[in-house]
Amino acid sequence: MCIRQLAVIGAGQMGSGITQIMAEQGKKVFLQDVDKSRVLMGIRRIEENLSRDVAKGRKTEQEKEAVLSRIRPVTDLDGIRDAEFVIEAATENPEIKRTIFRQLDQLTDEETVLTTNTSSISITKLAAATGRPGKVAGMHFFNPVPVMKLVEVIRGMATEDRTFRIVKSLAEEVQKVPVEVRDFPGFAANRILIPMINEAIYCVYEGVTSPESIDQVMKLGTNQPMGPLALADLIGLDTCLSIMEVLHEGYGDTKYRPCPLLKKYVEAGWLGRKTGRGFYLYD
Ligand code: NAD
Repeated sequence: MCIRQLAVIGAGQMGSGITQIMAEQGKKVFLQDVDKSRVLMGIRRIEENLSRDVAKGRKTEQEKEAVLSRIRPVTDLDGIRDAEFVIEAATENPEIKRTIFRQLDQLTDEETVLTTNTSSISITKLAAATGRPGKVAGMHFFNPVPVMKLVEVIRGMATEDRTFRIVKSLAEEVQKVPVEVRDFPGFAANRILIPMINEAIYCVYEGVTSPESIDQVMKLGTNQPMGPLALADLIGLDTCLSIMEVLHEGYGDTKYRPCPLLKKYVEAGWLGRKTGRGFYLYD
């Protein structure tokens, strides 16, 4: 099954990245968010990425315009009715996502596959908010979407084989590498990565050393391309916190308790790159 037009819900850093790669592949994309300014911010981010490609000679100006012309900004969810496939990439909050899935179930054709880019929330639970749990799956991209190759394809308890195959083949079509993962809290990548980030934050909290030194230690000592705190700022500290909360609740194990300093940063609105301040300052 070839998907020609799809919808992306949420025009933040992930939603805009997903929209970009889909539109680059020739697909028409409805990009939806709660208000016009957020959708336009997402489109502006895509435009900046494409302009960088043009400046580097990777695309022509016409190709950039063609990609942008395939993106339809939408604020009312009703506007995505005709989508043949949906990728939900809204804020990492179970209630927000469940509400979106309930609405998508009512709006779209009953055969439409509904996927979520959630980093940690149970696919099975989101699927249960719909009347088509067999047609729901996780399609977990990584940040920044145009660069990162991996897509975790997550099967909920009821995900049908056909749904899994459709998601996998769409991931391959956009030159990603799909890896099948079962529906456990944090799936695979974040179950390993986010507790490591949380531990790095504990090191700052306990005064072991500075954020810069922690990142240097992990880059030089463990060969990571980016330190865990710089990566946390890139992911978004609110997203990191909600993933830790899902792991803590899902496994009921204190080893997953979120660091109090992470909670404080989120309370302060210091969410990382997207707000200009996290463990580092950004322009
Ligand atoms: P973000 O904060 O950049 O963007 C979230 C967007 O969702 C915002 O624009 C917000 O206005 C929008 N939104 C909120 N409620 C909505 C609603 N009811 N309907 C439509 N849009 C709504 O967050 P992000 O980093 O892009 O993360 C989005 C999703 O992707 C989350 O589920 C997150 O866990 C997941 N994810 C994030 C990363 C990462 O590195 N940031 C990586 C993989 C997956």
